[in-house]
Amino acid sequence: MKRTEAFEMYQPTSLSEASLLLKEKGPGGRFLAGGTDLVIAMKEKGLVPKYVVDLKRLPGLSGIRQNSDGSIVIGALTTMREIEISPLLTKKYPFLCQSAAEVGSIQIRNRATIGGNMSNATPSADVAPSLIALQATAKIASFRSERSVAIEEFFRGPGLNIMDPDEILTEITIPKTSPRLVGEYIKFSPREMMDLAYVGVAAAYTVGEKENRCEDVRIVLGAVAPTPIRAKKAEAALEGQVLSEELAEKVGAIAAEEARPISDVRSSADYRRAMVGAMTKRALLNAMVGPAKSWVERRDRRY
Ligand SMILES: Cc1cc2nc3c(=O)[nH]c(=O)nc-3n(C[C@H](O)[C@H](O)[C@H](O)COP(=O)(O)OP(=O)(O)OC[C@H]3O[C@@H](n4cnc5c(N)ncnc54)[C@H](O)[C@@H]3O)c2cc1C
Repeated sequence: MKRTEAFEMYQPTSLSEASLLLKEKGPGGRFLAGGTDLVIAMKEKGLVPKYVVDLKRLPGLSGIRQNSDGSIVIGALTTMREIEISPLLTKKYPFLCQSAAEVGSIQIRNRATIGGNMSNATPSADVAPSLIALQATAKIASFRSERSVAIEEFFRGPGLNIMDPDEILTEITIPKTSPRLVGEYIKFSPREMMDLAYVGVAAAYTVGEKENRCEDVRIVLGAVAPTPIRAKKAEAALEGQVLSEELAEKVGAIAAEEARPISDVRSSADYRRAMVGAMTKRALLNAMVGPAKSWVERRDRRY
């Protein structure tokens, strides 16, 4: 790993100051959160930012809290490790904690932030499918304005998101959900750790009070299109139905048709498509059973 080129570094203490720096200093600047993507890009991929604006001194951008309306807010600087072990999230959305637990190693998770994972906009970003399944929104702010967008609309392509250069992702909000919502995230990467997802599947649905019918079904695929995508035809095939192994297989096959994978060093497109089918089926069935009790159990019930 080579040393970075010299660059200017700023450490603002307010959001408007941070955003204004991008306006005043002009193109070529980058925000810095945990640095697990940015610093690697600078050391290994030849990225030379003109200047770097560190976000870590901005107040109020980290932590997880529940609002009185039942929604949950996760600050953009909250680390993957904090999400992985959060008692509140573990109780309400264990599959979101699972997605965070899939990122890199514990050292990486202690630095990597949820805001950085979204802003970097890698199609394989592990936390994105679960956030989309939970219908989460991102709050984006600058010295000019503030807006909220659905995470589903946030990504524009590999490495691209909807933010302007001077905009900062400040927090992610998960709206109140039914207490009967269940979910699962499965990441497929043969090395199992310290590797990006070849395929990631998040599934979430509400188990209806009558006959356990699946409602508000969400199936979200990662790493099989330029951005994380919903498998809407697969969702529709399960909506209002009682889940069975046979139906889960059928829904998985529809999701596989909806995937738009490429072939690359990690895997062929055909293989990725087949894995979407298998993992969607498994995610739907696992969600009904409930969260795995250990890493080993989680690994063993992936396929
Ligand atoms: C060894 C290793 C293994 C990894 N494994 C995985 C993995 O398994 N799964 C996975 O999904 N990822 C993985 N990653 C990628 C990385 O850890 C995540 O994407 C991480 O969440 C990025 O967050 P960060 O805080 O480090 O972002 P940074 O590197 O600080 O920033 C990333 C990008 O986002 C921008 N940015 C950051 N925060 C904001 C914000 N609040 N507003 C606007 N722009 C912002 C930065 O300008 C930069 O362009 C791995 C990385 C490494 C080095």
